[in-house]
Amino acid sequence: MTAPRPLVTRFAPSPTGFLHLGHAHSALAGWRRARAAGGRFLLRIEDIDATRCRPEFVSAIEEDLAWLGLDWDGPVRVQSRHMADYRVSLDHLAAQGLLYPCFCSRSDIARGIAASAAAPHGPDGPLYPGTCRHLGKPERAARMAREPFALRLDMARALATLPAPLDFEEAGQGIIRCDPARFGDAVLARKEVPASYHLCVTHDDARDGVTLVTRGADLLPATDLHRLLQQLLGWPAPVYAHHALLADSLGRRLAKRDGAPALRSLRTQGISPSAVRAMAGWPD
Ligand code: GLU
Repeated sequence: MTAPRPLVTRFAPSPTGFLHLGHAHSALAGWRRARAAGGRFLLRIEDIDATRCRPEFVSAIEEDLAWLGLDWDGPVRVQSRHMADYRVSLDHLAAQGLLYPCFCSRSDIARGIAASAAAPHGPDGPLYPGTCRHLGKPERAARMAREPFALRLDMARALATLPAPLDFEEAGQGIIRCDPARFGDAVLARKEVPASYHLCVTHDDARDGVTLVTRGADLLPATDLHRLLQQLLGWPAPVYAHHALLADSLGRRLAKRDGAPALRSLRTQGISPSAVRAMAGWPD
């Protein structure tokens, strides 16, 4: 008999602002499961988008989590310091013929969508109409030498490599069938950032041996694409535990833009960490 894998989970905030109660709920969901199981809890800073992320929020995240009573195992992984790792994964996909450069601007894409009879939407917005998928090799090479480009996954080709339909285990709910096609030709490296959330998150979960991905239910649809990337890159499938998003007393989702209180403002008001844990849905 093989020993069961020790539980490894993580909290992976983007440093675009101060942590609020919704983050506390999410962090505690992972931390409590890891600690109850004698497993590991990792902290990862998802900061590849330099236009939205700010370094001062990274130290604030660590400070707020420590104040809340959470600790984490090992060094904090800061994604922006590891862009070369994501490049290697992109190279693997490119070597399988699964990527193509996309030169389209947002307005090119909007025009392409407007011109097509169907305009299907996926979890990340309207599906890419495929304009650059049809470019010939010489045109690709010439434009790559002089224009910025994104890298897109050729979804039809990627799906054709699958030996069987994909699924994943949602803790406590069972097996869920995936439908990655609803993302269309997803962007895996952006013009301004040579990687994407979907690529980095699956890379790092695999690299860090994460066995249980705890995160908000808003990311449930993304799991279909994450499972596809794991399959294409030979990475193991973690179990997923998507938690309901914390809502206020009127049932509204707690998010920064809707004025969810930042943990540090609760702290300055003199509210104790234990009371904040209870407000975040995890009473001691
Ligand atoms: N960085 C993502 C966020 O802040 C979370 C990613 C994940 O948990 O998979 O929403």
